[in-house]
Amino acid sequence: IVLISTGGLVLLGAVAGGLFLSHRAMQPARLAFTRQQSFIANASHELRTPLTFLCANAEILLEERNYLPPEDVTLLEDIQTEATHMAALANNMLTLARLDMGDIKLHHEHDILDLTALAESAVRQGKALADQRDIHLRAEGPKPLYVIGDPILLEQTILVLLENAIKYNRPNGQVVLCTSQENDTVRLEVQDTGIGIAPEHLPRLGERFYRVDKARSRAVGGTGLGLSIARGIIRAHGGSLQFVSQPEQGTAVKITLPAMNAPLRPRVAEGG
Ligand code: ADP
Repeated sequence: IVLISTGGLVLLGAVAGGLFLSHRAMQPARLAFTRQQSFIANASHELRTPLTFLCANAEILLEERNYLPPEDVTLLEDIQTEATHMAALANNMLTLARLDMGDIKLHHEHDILDLTALAESAVRQGKALADQRDIHLRAEGPKPLYVIGDPILLEQTILVLLENAIKYNRPNGQVVLCTSQENDTVRLEVQDTGIGIAPEHLPRLGERFYRVDKARSRAVGGTGLGLSIARGIIRAHGGSLQFVSQPEQGTAVKITLPAMNAPLRPRVAEGG
């Protein structure tokens, strides 16, 4: 018994030592990862200023398009398109690096928000793009539906899904954004009547730079990072994101989030 327990102790010691060592061995890897993410975040941030400058300057020059030779107008339009694309890419890379570093603050009492109101605001913002492409866009759902979260990041997520539902749709197609609650879960679903996604692609959606049709994605102004950002944001909120799709019929992207059932009560002054 003594032998066994000594052996057990030795074994336990070895396992604990191994764990300690592997934990220590992990430190440089974690440090390198954090450094890499903060480099990506800083680089993306630095890129945004010159790109914004480029876009703005191209726009100023294009105001004089009627006085410019047509080939110069084409060149300027190309500069504007590419600079806008790169600015979107830099923004998305910054968000992803922030998500990787866990650099977003959640679960703060001031961040209780109404998801249906947020969805309606996203729909208002998506309206111009929808009108441009002859898509009928609307929001449905009871109000209020409380969740805890970062309003800017959650709105960004909804906008990614709405933009995709509009971009990968057909003229006269439909996009409906539904919100609902079931027990402790709040659901948000973006349904479209667009081109759909073949089943073999579904498991890979949300991987960085994964596109079903690269040429089409680029033609509609995609960066290939939208869904990975959406997934990262929803996971950081303790939720999940799921795709259901039928090629040539349409796609539904379903988000679940933990419900925050009780709204924050207004503070009552003490002694009042
Ligand atoms: P992108 O910037 O290319 O749109 P995303 O990460 O947002 O990148 O989406 C990845 C890919 O998933 C897209 O390139 C597109 O092929 C496909 N996809 C996303 N949403 C839809 C949708 N609603 N209908 C059809 N295909 C979609």
